[in-house]
Amino acid sequence: MIQPILLTGDRTTGPLHLGHYAGSLRSRLDLLDSHETYLLLADAQALTDNAHDPEKVRRNVIEVALDYLAVGIDPTKSTICLQSHLPALAELSMLYLNFVSVARLERNPTIKTEIAARGFGRDIPAGFLCYPAAQAADITAFKATVVPVGEDQAPLIEQTNEIARRINAVAGRDVLPEARAIIPRSGRLPGVDGRAKMSKSGGNAIPLSATPDQISAAVRAMFTDPAHLRVEDPGRVEGNVVFTYLDAFDPDTQTLEELKARYRHGGLGDGKIKKRLDEILQALVAPIRNRRAEFAQEPDFVLDVIRVGTERARVVTEATKKEVVDGLGLFAL
Ligand code: ATP
Ligand code: MG
Repeated sequence: MIQPILLTGDRTTGPLHLGHYAGSLRSRLDLLDSHETYLLLADAQALTDNAHDPEKVRRNVIEVALDYLAVGIDPTKSTICLQSHLPALAELSMLYLNFVSVARLERNPTIKTEIAARGFGRDIPAGFLCYPAAQAADITAFKATVVPVGEDQAPLIEQTNEIARRINAVAGRDVLPEARAIIPRSGRLPGVDGRAKMSKSGGNAIPLSATPDQISAAVRAMFTDPAHLRVEDPGRVEGNVVFTYLDAFDPDTQTLEELKARYRHGGLGDGKIKKRLDEILQALVAPIRNRRAEFAQEPDFVLDVIRVGTERARVVTEATKKEVVDGLGLFAL
């Protein structure tokens, strides 16, 4: 049976966190059985803003792979592969860079936001500015049509499709399929500090390997509604970080709606909603943390998963590269 092809990945810049779980890991798990799944350990992309610290990028390859296995991604049902060891991705990136303008790269809303967040000023690494073309290479090299990502990534999928259309136009046939982003309903998970996005680089994340104490401390420190001083005061649910997290992780949506109504009306204290969130997160993270610790005892197994996956991915990506080169009608030797 032919299944739709799914590709997504994570930069190897740190262990994965609850934002990844809500934003992308959860959808991947749901789609694993019905899709041919490729997961990219994006170490080359991680280097685009970490060239000063390649050791961090190297070290986190295993950390991210452990997170995949810990959340329940079955390596027999998916291909976990290492970006820097797939030369076809780099070769396709070089080709694609000719199908996108610098102005278009600079206008990409994701890139604009990320450049501002990183404070590059005028010293934007060229690799960073160009990573949308590299991401287009990642997605199209696997001929993926389904890409589960957080909503911050949607403009990158659009840009991928633009590049694919241009290649197809020059080739005069559909060499590359277009891809669709699968974006979760819960939207972007804010950081525990209330900033717009929980991010590995932002120091505002609850990692999937967090200890019970780390989880409780993070929940205790979360912002609620600064005007909600006494229990009986009416409180705001919108922009209240605790409720945003409950929206993302509380499986009992009916009770949650009742709690929101009580909070808005007044009479529900911050302590109560934080206690509920703490319990939910503890229950979510405990099995992940335990499985992670077990896999961490088997480094050879983890390495083997990456090796086998990368070998398999090499065959697929090389074939697509050849099709693109043929499609463009470049000289064949
Ligand atoms: P970095 O800070 O190094 O960029 P990151 O935390 O942004 O790391 P990425 O590896 O860039 O993580 O993102 C991997 C995937 O996880 C993307 O699809 C992204 O949209 C999703 N994701 C990351 N953070 C969040 C979040 N806070 N909420 C929802 N989705 C997220
Ligand atoms: Mg990121």
